[in-house]
Amino acid sequence: MAREFYIDTDECIACGSCAETCPGCFRLLEDAAHADVIGFDCPAEEIQDAMDNCPVECIHYEE
Ligand code: SF4
Repeated sequence: MAREFYIDTDECIACGSCAETCPGCFRLLEDAAHADVIGFDCPAEEIQDAMDNCPVECIHYEE
């Protein structure tokens, strides 16, 4: 099963980077205050890139 992760929505600055990097798992709606996780079944390296490129490091794996 794919490893699950979440966005700390209090920290997210809605930059859109995660949705650009990994559009299958992250989405940023227009005028939204934060991005959303829309799935977990994406290539692991894409998810890792989205995490690494998040400017406020607010995407985390579930324990
Ligand atoms: Fe939010 Fe980080 Fe995604 Fe930017 S990359 S929209 S700060 S979760």
